[in-house]
Amino acid sequence: MNIVESKSMTKKFGNFDALRNINLIVKKGQVHGFIGPNGAGKSTTIRILLGLLKKTSGDVSVLNQDPWTDSVAIHSNLVYVPGDVSLWPDLTGGEIIDFLGRLHGKQNEQRKAELIAKFQLDPKKKAATYSKGNRQKVALIAALACDVELYLFDEPTSGLDPLMETIFQECVLELKQAGKTIFLSSHILSEVEALCDYVSIIRQGEIVESGTLEELRHLTRTTLTVKTDDDLTAISELAGVYDFVSTAQQYRFSVETTALNTVIQELSTITLQSLTAEPPSLEELFMRHYDLQKEE
Ligand code: ADP
Ligand code: MG
Repeated sequence: MNIVESKSMTKKFGNFDALRNINLIVKKGQVHGFIGPNGAGKSTTIRILLGLLKKTSGDVSVLNQDPWTDSVAIHSNLVYVPGDVSLWPDLTGGEIIDFLGRLHGKQNEQRKAELIAKFQLDPKKKAATYSKGNRQKVALIAALACDVELYLFDEPTSGLDPLMETIFQECVLELKQAGKTIFLSSHILSEVEALCDYVSIIRQGEIVESGTLEELRHLTRTTLTVKTDDDLTAISELAGVYDFVSTAQQYRFSVETTALNTVIQELSTITLQSLTAEPPSLEELFMRHYDLQKEE
């Protein structure tokens, strides 16, 4: 069963195409990363999934229902945390967590206490005194303490310090182990890379790439550094070899995954002093999409 599904979903704000042809499938048990630069359309997509915004055209279903018409039913089985949390200033963090829990009805008391300890939140302080990070913690604790099918996070760690970000990641992995589905947006690649088993990249309202991390890595390049007295001209001329730089007996270049075998075969015919390979990162793939954007 697909927990989230959209086909050719679009959203216009006036004449502006905020989303164009969004095809998205989030499978049960998946940690699905939704990444893209600011303004790409991440929050707009999530708001449609929540039934807060109405799509302009196309199909969308969440937990097998229409988020616009079946919003109430859907919300009993999902939780959502936005990137910038506002709270009732006169209530304490603890009161807000309890209140949100009672509204939702699916909060687990023991889990809530564990999360307050884990995130080191002082629940007795009034929300007005909380920093952005603490407001974020309140919303995350309230959501993570709920036992639901789908967890939607829109840039959830934007106000958290690195230690708390790690704790958030642990919580997401626990949910994953419990078979829950998580859809998480971010413009920070490293957090998505650490958590997600499937990634969709959105840019200017369109999904430009999607797949498992393994599949996306095929689109990236491995960087090789070679020390040798031999001549590497033949390698520099191979298809799929880029950014070839040579200094005294040292060569550095990047290789497309599909060209790796050929390059390694060539390297096996020469006398190597040393060889290092840097694995491709998703960051690099992402940067290429940014580059495309800059060219326009
Ligand atoms: P992201 O979350 O990826 O940073 P958003 O989904 O918030 O991006 O925004 C996508 C685009 O839609 C942006 O250009 C933004 O200015 C525009 N946009 C978002 N909400 C509205 C709105 N209510 N009215 C008009 N334009 C909007
Ligand atoms: Mg956003």
